[in-house]
Amino acid sequence: MTAAEGTRLEYATAPERLRPQIDASYGLFINGEFVEPASNASFVTTDPATGRKLAEVAQGDERDVDRAVQAAKAAGARWSRLKPSERAKYLFRLARRLQECSRELAVLETMDGGKPIRESRDVDLPLAAQHFFYHAGWADKLQFAFAGATPKPLGVCGQIIPWNFPLLMAAWKIAPALACGNTVVLKPAETTPLTALHLARIMQEIELPDGVVNIVTGAGNTGAAVVNHPGMKKIAFTGSTDVGRHIMHSLAARDIPLTLELGGKSPNIVFADASLDQAIEGVVSGIWFNQGHVCCAGSRLYVEECIAEEFIAALRERMARLRVGDPLDKNTDVGAINSAEQLERIEGLVSCGRDQGAVLHEINDDPLPSRGNWHRPCFFTGVEPSHTIAREEIFGPVLSVMTFRTPEEAIRRANSTPYGLAAGVWTDKGAKIFDIAARLEAGVVWCNTYNMFDASSPFGGTKASGFGREGGRHGLRAYVQLAEARS
Ligand code: ADP
Repeated sequence: MTAAEGTRLEYATAPERLRPQIDASYGLFINGEFVEPASNASFVTTDPATGRKLAEVAQGDERDVDRAVQAAKAAGARWSRLKPSERAKYLFRLARRLQECSRELAVLETMDGGKPIRESRDVDLPLAAQHFFYHAGWADKLQFAFAGATPKPLGVCGQIIPWNFPLLMAAWKIAPALACGNTVVLKPAETTPLTALHLARIMQEIELPDGVVNIVTGAGNTGAAVVNHPGMKKIAFTGSTDVGRHIMHSLAARDIPLTLELGGKSPNIVFADASLDQAIEGVVSGIWFNQGHVCCAGSRLYVEECIAEEFIAALRERMARLRVGDPLDKNTDVGAINSAEQLERIEGLVSCGRDQGAVLHEINDDPLPSRGNWHRPCFFTGVEPSHTIAREEIFGPVLSVMTFRTPEEAIRRANSTPYGLAAGVWTDKGAKIFDIAARLEAGVVWCNTYNMFDASSPFGGTKASGFGREGGRHGLRAYVQLAEARS
């Protein structure tokens, strides 16, 4: 251990004491009520930090998706004709109630998904509420979002979301759809269904009209049933690139709009003139906080060669201070890996990195809990562009560090990936920021910061990371059809 690593402060534990009420079992949320699935089948959702069962959750199939679509269609006839300012009131109510329940929902999110309570409390919940507030504001101003055209709702929207931001993704997808007068059938991820189901309860409490939002839980087959239902007028998917491609094939013969937010292998480029302390924090939060379970995680780091030694030493030191462990402890930086399958995938890629000759740095020596799914934050040096760890999405707290000598080289290497979700640039020079950001093939480029989100700012990818935007005025476009306004 180096002297710097030895200066680590010891904190007492600071466990979150509140425990939300979790039911033994949950039904599907269709037409404003919780109902049994047609097959009566269910699956178990567990706490990845302890392996403990949290609840049984209904397994929906084609018949349930059909029920949900029929309910959404019937509700859509009224919802789409409701005065827009009335639709806005429901969205405002949802936003306010989310804020009121935010502590309970943050704990539930952490228990079901394994992310640190600090993240779910300070990021997921505030942003989820913000999406409802933001889109409530648009509901009666849509004509100003699309100059010269009259926006009309699309109808029933099928929305499929992953496990990394369960409630935030639900809000991110439901809020714009509803603001634009559509109704929704949402399919949460099979490992993290609970917060969406508690959101459904909030919808009941605020008396959102029945059928406007329906939630059908289940795994990939349930998702496929959502995609393939002929009543869907739009599909929005966030998840892996493989499943996204599969969905594109399934919809090839159907004329309905599709948005895909898929995987990434996002580069963070640090120039020698950057504020290095600031860049270290950005790199750390971009890959290690939230276990690297972020589709736009900055998983490739390119450091200008002349500062590489100093930067890597600082990165090691910062990594040694990260706290891995109980996600419900308010001091925890890195929580549990979402599932045993995900952990296995991460471990497989880490050993592949070693086998291919990269050097693993894993100096965080916190004892890991004996149960649950855990992976220490780590990084590799000596990474070649051809190494699997430099090319494939890992979706874990694993960083590949590489160097560059010129801006041209940095851009070329950053862009040499099939993905194009996000990128980060760290430099003191404004002109360099604009030049480089414009040449990076990424849907989002953060400059001297990383992983910053706002409901008013569109997010989405390019290349194999998908298409379409979520958030901001651009995100509304995915939920309307535009008729030319009469002059
Ligand atoms: P991840 O690797 O992030 O888990 P997936 O793409 O496997 O991403 O899953 C994201 C979401 O897509 C989940 O809700 C999952 O159940 C759903 N899903 C998986 N397979 C399919 C499919 N063939 N069609 C539609 N949805 C699917």
